[in-house]
Amino acid sequence: MKVATGKSILKGIAIGKLKIYRKEAAQTSRTSTLTPEEEYARFQAAQKAAQEQLGELYEKALDEVGEDNAAIFEIHQMMLEDEDYVDAVKGILDTQGATAEYAVATTGDNFAAAFAAMEDPYMQARSADVKDISRRVVNILAGAETGSAQGDEPAILVADDLTPSETVQLDKSKLLGFITRGGSTNSHTAILARTMGIPALIGVDYDESWDGELAVLDGYNQCVYVDPAAELLSTMEAKRRADLEQASLLQGLKKKPNVTLDGTEIQVYANIGNGGDVGLVLQNDAQGIGLFRSEFLYLDGDDYPTEEEQFAVYKRVAETMAGKKVIIRTLDIGADKQADYFGLDHEENPALGYRAIRICLTRRDVFKTQLRAILRASAYGTVSIMFPMIISVREVRDAKEVLEECRSELKAQGLPMGQVEIGIMIETPAAVMIADELAQEVQFFSLGTNDLTQYTLAIDRQNPKLDAFYNPHHPAILRMIRMTVEAGHRHGCWVGICGELGADPALTETFLRMGVDELSVSPSAILPLRKRIRALDLRKPAGKIEDGE
Ligand code: PEP
Ligand code: MG
Repeated sequence: MKVATGKSILKGIAIGKLKIYRKEAAQTSRTSTLTPEEEYARFQAAQKAAQEQLGELYEKALDEVGEDNAAIFEIHQMMLEDEDYVDAVKGILDTQGATAEYAVATTGDNFAAAFAAMEDPYMQARSADVKDISRRVVNILAGAETGSAQGDEPAILVADDLTPSETVQLDKSKLLGFITRGGSTNSHTAILARTMGIPALIGVDYDESWDGELAVLDGYNQCVYVDPAAELLSTMEAKRRADLEQASLLQGLKKKPNVTLDGTEIQVYANIGNGGDVGLVLQNDAQGIGLFRSEFLYLDGDDYPTEEEQFAVYKRVAETMAGKKVIIRTLDIGADKQADYFGLDHEENPALGYRAIRICLTRRDVFKTQLRAILRASAYGTVSIMFPMIISVREVRDAKEVLEECRSELKAQGLPMGQVEIGIMIETPAAVMIADELAQEVQFFSLGTNDLTQYTLAIDRQNPKLDAFYNPHHPAILRMIRMTVEAGHRHGCWVGICGELGADPALTETFLRMGVDELSVSPSAILPLRKRIRALDLRKPAGKIEDGE
């Protein structure tokens, strides 16, 4: 048995085979020992194999997601035969004596950069496609794994790191848990794991030779046991069964109000990343959706989701929630959430960069497509709109102006719309300081404590080295939350928390005493939070918060 430690993202146990997730092609050498003709023949054979894989993927997608969505694989097949692309590969082989792997990878990068620099959004989107087909060919040439890097059986995935876009694309039915070498506890990948209720460990120094071994991922003790001893395995199986029993006991709290012993009530909503999470929301009996991270719709594809595609998702969520509130946060792309087709430049400080509302207010075409889709979906349920990363009153006014423009257009087209509450995320210190002014522009605030903590403490949420310095109970954060609640209430705004701090049971009492109106947490945290709320009595003296100071 081997044991490795890491940091736990979600307390839970996963038992199954480990699967090393190889997303990139194996490192390839640049100079070939073969002639250019021989390398070209290798390229042609790999190109043919890639065509076959794409044909199979097209058939599978046709069955599972329909013709429109399957069409991308046909586009990939065409790109792979493109004369310019093939000529570029051949040119590198002939002039540089390079390996086919190097020639394809270089051509892929060059074409991707050229597409990304084009004005036309359709052509920009092809940047991700050309990278994708090149990676496929390089993988075939290098003999690396292709097709589903996840494998065919349910497994605990092991990877160097997973980006948010890779995580959303994983097949959840085959994902027992995941382990990464990199990552930080506050990254979006970690948040996704919590939303999906998947045990995960980060910062694990794993060994490639573990591939295929039976393992136990122990989220409680923050470690993984590879090839566990029989006794340990049966203890862990018992622990996992106990977890399931505990989860079913919590189900007994469904339909019970979120009210303390002294009668103070708070709303408990759910955070979701895509339409498919609504099942988890209902299963855990959330009173609404407090944060729909709509950008994951954008990360899930190779091109901008159209108005119709977005409308279909928002409508389905609104309908399924049957009148309960659904707060859709407008696109919060940028920083760690990157989609190649946006063609965003490399930035020195992406967390402080061109992201979220800053992109939306300068890319009105993209913003309007989303706002129209949300407004149309509002006819089918109780939909609210929330703008992220706000730092000024001007931004809120500008965003509302674009929203009004969309509303007028839809009205002129005779399309139905419902009443839509408008709110903003309070996730920058600037927004806290001008909360009184901002509150006069909107109906609600939702505190994004993940970013608010990052910007207030000057701690990059992506940097695992800083976890030791990261203190979410820092008095500065708690004071900011209090200031925001008070400012919101002064002007008739309700105030919630949708950052990860909302699920911290050590702070539930503090938030209730501050008068927070709503906590929006990952679906798996709803019933434990309800249990916590129902055990509190605010008539008793306040408990002390461990603020680590
Ligand atoms: C936050 O910043 O707290 C938040 C909820 O948004 P995200 O984690 O998606 O940045
Ligand atoms: Mg945020």
